[in-house]
Amino acid sequence: MEVSAYQGAITGAYIIASILFILSLGGLSHQESARRGNVFGMAGMAIAIVATAFHESIESYVYILIPMLLGGAVGAWRASRVQMTQMPELVALLHSFVGLAAVLVGFSSYLGSEGLYSGAEKVVHEVEIYLGILIGAVTFTGSVIAFGKLNGFITSKPMMFPGRHLVNLAGLLICIWYGHDFIRAADIPHGMTALVIMTVIALLFGVHMVMAIGGADMPVVISMLNSYSGWAAAATGFMLSNDLLIVTGALVGSSGAILSYIMCRAMNRKFVSVIMGGFGGQTASSGGGQADHQGTAVEISQDECGASLNNIRSLVIVPGYGMAVAHAQHAVYELTRRLREKGVNVRFAIHPVAGRMPGHMNVLLAEARVPYDIVLEMDEIQEDLPATDMVMVIGANDIVNPSAIEDPEGPIAGMPVIEAWNAREVIVLKRSMASGYAGIENPLFFKPNTKMLFGDARDSIEGLIAHLI
Ligand code: NDP
Repeated sequence: MEVSAYQGAITGAYIIASILFILSLGGLSHQESARRGNVFGMAGMAIAIVATAFHESIESYVYILIPMLLGGAVGAWRASRVQMTQMPELVALLHSFVGLAAVLVGFSSYLGSEGLYSGAEKVVHEVEIYLGILIGAVTFTGSVIAFGKLNGFITSKPMMFPGRHLVNLAGLLICIWYGHDFIRAADIPHGMTALVIMTVIALLFGVHMVMAIGGADMPVVISMLNSYSGWAAAATGFMLSNDLLIVTGALVGSSGAILSYIMCRAMNRKFVSVIMGGFGGQTASSGGGQADHQGTAVEISQDECGASLNNIRSLVIVPGYGMAVAHAQHAVYELTRRLREKGVNVRFAIHPVAGRMPGHMNVLLAEARVPYDIVLEMDEIQEDLPATDMVMVIGANDIVNPSAIEDPEGPIAGMPVIEAWNAREVIVLKRSMASGYAGIENPLFFKPNTKMLFGDARDSIEGLIAHLI
């Protein structure tokens, strides 16, 4: 009786934590409520950890507290030092840990299952283990490669091996074959052989899949791996019979899947084509490399640009990854504030894949206290651009590349972009003529109404503020 009341309290805590996670996801869907969403998420996780620590199956706290303190300390140290530009890499790395955890829990669960289950229950438990390890292994290596691609260790260009679809198909068939073998295995050593072979194939598949994906498709991959990490956690929950882990994993898995769908729509891509790989970068040097010139780009000085700014009535700012690199968001806010005081209609155009993680630009602008009501989605502002005096592109490149529309054979053909060139004047703030993450040339820089203001974005904007009268 005492034990069941105790268990009831833990279940109650798990339900409260699950509700807090759902409220957290709801909060994170709007900028105004994002902070509250984070608080709900943290409270839910704290309750979940405390409730789990009181679980009746825990016999000794030594083996739990030591790794918890170690992991917590490393996590707190990394998170407190990480630069905003490194957040996507950190997230990819954290996803890889979820995948690795699912693999390890799967093996340990299998090794500890001898004699515990029989009949249909045994089959269900083994299917959970097999699927959990499969998803976990793909998530682990896929996320490690995504981490490498995001921080530049690995080129953002798609690396496509000949016959790769056949290799993937063969890998899938072998996994199904060994899955059948695993379930029918008479004892743990036999089952273990099948499990290890499948794990190696799944690890290689994770590498192969993400290596083949080009720079422009990376946003979909990030959200897809986010989703996989959720399903891996849910599978771990099934193996451990932990309801909260199942609910939390399913929440992450399904919200990641929805995000992947949104990203696919934003890039005008089909999910299957993303997995097939190769979008962006085929004709390019490497991401961030020097693009081939297609004409003469016109440079503008700070004096000239400042003079232009003093004469405009409307401005649309298109921020991109370079704004994050330059930590220019506070200077951008100051420029916005000063121009609005002068009566200029300043608005922001946010591309869904700007920066290196979903919502990257919104986070930076919110941090700099830019009012939410002037931060608009690409679709909300696109048709206002022809009537806009100036578009200022701050450290953005791929998201304003007209070749997506003008070159039907080009590597990013069909990708929706912010049509900055439709404004009366376009000023591009960047340091050089280098290409963006997708590694492709940008004809915007050579349009007759475009001028390049070279330099670090923050320095350039601070210089422009000094020119405002
Ligand atoms: P891009 O990577 O296309 O371009 C960024 C530009 O910023 C570069 O061309 C660079 O040029 C410039 N830059 C870098 N540092 C500075 C600085 N200090 N000052 C001024 N400029 C600077 O970024 P976008 O935001 O336009 O596009 C995002 C790209 O990233 C897309 O290809 C997208 O698919 C991909 N991606 C997006 C993810 C997401 O979830 N949002 C995830 C993964 C990839 P220069 O060196 O000349 O200064």
